[in-house]
Amino acid sequence: MAKIALKGVDKVYSGGGKGSGGVKAVDNLDLEIADGEFMVLVGPSGCGKSTALRMIAGLEEISAGELLIGDEVVNDRPPKDRDIAMVFQNYALYPHMTVEQNLAFGLKLRKIAKPEIQRRVAEAAAMLGLEPYLKRKPAALSGGQRQRVAMGRAIVREPQAFLMDEPLSNLDAKLRVQMRASLNQLHERLGVTTVYVTHDQVEAMTLGDRVAVLRDGRLQQVDTPKNLFRNP
Ligand code: ADP
Ligand code: ADP
Repeated sequence: MAKIALKGVDKVYSGGGKGSGGVKAVDNLDLEIADGEFMVLVGPSGCGKSTALRMIAGLEEISAGELLIGDEVVNDRPPKDRDIAMVFQNYALYPHMTVEQNLAFGLKLRKIAKPEIQRRVAEAAAMLGLEPYLKRKPAALSGGQRQRVAMGRAIVREPQAFLMDEPLSNLDAKLRVQMRASLNQLHERLGVTTVYVTHDQVEAMTLGDRVAVLRDGRLQQVDTPKNLFRNP
């Protein structure tokens, strides 16, 4: 586990019209996420949430400022060297593999020993209630089960941090409520530093230890859900 810090971070995308200096998607973002904290980035579409998350993941270059994971500046470090696992809304499961194989695949690529892979897969499956489905392929799973497999693939890596980009947005309302409860439980159990992006305020308030509110690429407020609710 590790803290994550953004210090004066900008992201400028080229383009944005004639004579413009580009689109400033993230503007001078200062945010420190404590070791083991569940931080939610919330705000309307286009406010820069995904860009911020993708910069932490290393999927997007930082235009200015510093990004630290633990005590190290990681601005130029590729995603695979950041020891972070990302969960997307579109699951990205391998359709030809069973749940078990999907969970194990990333670990096999990393040359982790077979008994260790089996231990981690069994543990994640138990935590996520996936044991009955280990031999099924993704096509034979519900949306919620697929999303659990996607989370399982992140968990088995035992990373320093989880990054989640709207992981529940493809689920129906009932499943979202269930998955919010599962996410809370998982975080309690694992205590892994998590950065979670959503445009849904209820999700932000029920999941976050703290919530960072973004608008037009800028940080407007960052506080506990309780304090934000008291002083909206
Ligand atoms: P959010 O996740 O809050 O919806 P994004 O981070 O996706 O916001 O986008 C922030 C801003 O950056 C928006 O104005 C968006 O249009 C712009 N943007 C995002 N990705 C790109 C890109 N690859 N190229 C140019 N502009 C982008
Ligand atoms: P990791 O856990 O590091 O993402 P994976 O083995 O799950 O490792 O994936 C390896 C690479 O393949 C990653 O870059 C991932 O984004 C990509 N990937 C994962 N699932 C799919 C899929 N169903 N189709 C195409 N690419 C995928």
